Amino acid sequence: MPVQIPSKYNQKFLQKPLLTCVLSLGIGFMCLGPSGTALAQQSIQASPESATQARDILRDLIAAKSIHANGSTRSAQMIADRLIAGSYSHDEVQVLAPKEYPTKGNVVVRMRGKRDAGTQEKPVLYIGHLDVVDAKREDWNFDPFTLTEKDGWLYGRGTIDMLGQAAAYVTTMLRLKKEGFIPQRDIILALTADEEAEGNANGVAWLLKEHKALIDASLVINPDAGEAAIKNGRKLYLTAQTSEKVFLTFGLEVTDKGGHSSRPTAHNPIDRLAKGLHKLSGFNFPLHLTDTVKLYFAGRSNLESGQKKADMLAVSLAKPDQAAVRRLSQEVETNIMLRTTCTTTEISGGHAENALPQRARATVQCRVIPGESQAQVEAQLRKVLQDDSIKISVITAAKPTPESPPSPAIFNAVASVAKRMWPEVIVLPNMSAGASDSVFTRNAGLPTYGIDAMFDDLDDSRAHGRDERISVKGFNEEIEFVYRLVKAIDKLPSK
Ligand SMILES: [Zn+2]
Repeated sequence: MPVQIPSKYNQKFLQKPLLTCVLSLGIGFMCLGPSGTALAQQSIQASPESATQARDILRDLIAAKSIHANGSTRSAQMIADRLIAGSYSHDEVQVLAPKEYPTKGNVVVRMRGKRDAGTQEKPVLYIGHLDVVDAKREDWNFDPFTLTEKDGWLYGRGTIDMLGQAAAYVTTMLRLKKEGFIPQRDIILALTADEEAEGNANGVAWLLKEHKALIDASLVINPDAGEAAIKNGRKLYLTAQTSEKVFLTFGLEVTDKGGHSSRPTAHNPIDRLAKGLHKLSGFNFPLHLTDTVKLYFAGRSNLESGQKKADMLAVSLAKPDQAAVRRLSQEVETNIMLRTTCTTTEISGGHAENALPQRARATVQCRVIPGESQAQVEAQLRKVLQDDSIKISVITAAKPTPESPPSPAIFNAVASVAKRMWPEVIVLPNMSAGASDSVFTRNAGLPTYGIDAMFDDLDDSRAHGRDERISVKGFNEEIEFVYRLVKAIDKLPSK
């Protein structure tokens, strides 16, 4: 069944799947290329030299223990030293930190592109963070800050989020230099501070504010916002993330004069707030399908079967079928792609066991579809609560972030690299429910795509958790993927 493309974007990309996987009895999954020929299943990995180099870098980054309290300057300096030892000049590599936060260091390296073309193209910028979430030795089976290999796995804080990817990018920059590669346009890698913490020294935000020229680009790739999924040992998809839902938090409050609990009234603030929250819990915000989400469902349907497949295809169409929307709204993972969500996260109220409450408060946390405004969401919330005595205030204001255009050229570049390495894998345009540093680059007007190939198990994700790990094979594949991706992206026309 042909997929009907919902927008002007990406006609080429999704009209036919890159390949067809069929379940044949007794054989398991067999994947065929577009021509119907069986594709080799051999794993394509980094060379032993690159693998060793990346492993050493990862080991040092983990050992640097770049948690919020320690900062990332040591890691940034270590990477700069390696790049300079790998023939980058001092002009090309810089370690920078805000004066007030000297431990929040960032490293920026630039590989200069061809200068003789006359019309100089704007650079491509790759961003990633050097900081990690803290981890306690007693919670882990291994020392979180010592890279440990066991049974084909590499354990350590930051292996998947995202020191492993940082190591792969540094290795790529070293390899390109060694090969004498001269890109069409400058390639910039910025590895930065404070992505994980709510600090004041976020490296991407600071670089954009204070050193814009150093990282200005016409295209940004952020591996931290990419997703590569594996389930039951089978690689499923890579995402090319174009957008993120916007974080927005409201405070709700009801007050009353109170009184003795032996004389209950209809004005009890806890009761009134509870009634409002109950209405909110049963409310679905209006369906809002972005171009990216339509493409996501069109692609994602290739991994499903039966009703779910049909429903995903239905919502990818211009006029989605309401029954399909209803069914997909019942599952958390699909519901969050269809609409803005708001949910209660905190509640408090009352002051004594035997007093009528004078105050009740709740926190309502929303994740807003790009394109909707804070005012729109607030108005909707007011309508749902149906009670003017519930005062609404803004706790965390929305930082509206645009969707980067779902670009067929980007998707095709990623797909062509991925297809050669993993014929069974599809590439999905994606909108994330969470936020990354892409919020800063998109808000600065730089189209940004989250792309990564460090495959993570959908049923065993350990980022920020205990015994964080990546597989040795997955790491070696990621190193090679990054190298090929950087070269493929360099070939793209910049317009
Ligand atoms: Zn991260």
